[in-house]
Amino acid sequence: MSRLRITEIFYSLQGESSSIGKPTLFVRLTGCPLRCVWCDTEYAFSGGDYWEMPQLLSKIDSYQPQNICITGGEPLAQFQPCLELMAALCEKGHSVSIETSGSIDISEVDPRVIKVMDLKAPDSGEMSKNKYSNIAFLNKNDEVKFVIKSRKDYDWAKMQMDQYQLAEKTNVIISPCFGDINERELAEWIIEDNLPARFQIQLHKILWNDAEGH
Ligand code: SF4
Repeated sequence: MSRLRITEIFYSLQGESSSIGKPTLFVRLTGCPLRCVWCDTEYAFSGGDYWEMPQLLSKIDSYQPQNICITGGEPLAQFQPCLELMAALCEKGHSVSIETSGSIDISEVDPRVIKVMDLKAPDSGEMSKNKYSNIAFLNKNDEVKFVIKSRKDYDWAKMQMDQYQLAEKTNVIISPCFGDINERELAEWIIEDNLPARFQIQLHKILWNDAEGH
């Protein structure tokens, strides 16, 4: 029977993506093969508890969630059971999204799931892990997210948008790396360039200063 290693399950407001501000149940899967320099979820790299699939599904149902976000860590690091979980949740009629690093194949993710996929910019330290073939599997409901730490990151993101025609394929989110870049300056670059992207500051960091459980 499938099982998943889970760091935490909690109900909060979606802090990013196009669903920002919506009540959402977060299922944070344990483990990540990446080490982004600005990672804010290092506590999910290890530990966690194993959940058998039926128990996990019934725990999730007990919240009667409006929206469910499968996150990590890198949830697709537990590839097969993660795919199974998302398919089972969609089958039950839930609205499901996944936050993924962009380093693992997304082609088998259930088409009903909204994929929020990072492309790692140079100053993340993990740019070499980007799996660019994933871009072909993003659609108008999905999102590609750039976390920007510097002007170099911003210019790189613009290049990727241009090279892969990202704004025509999917939604593009530009998010400042918390505490590392002047948010207003980044916003002004976007306005100046009339970039077809959405600027976004992580809501949970403003509301709860990134406390675990939010
Ligand atoms: S992919 Fe996500 S969880 Fe993994 S190191 Fe980067 S920011 Fe952290």
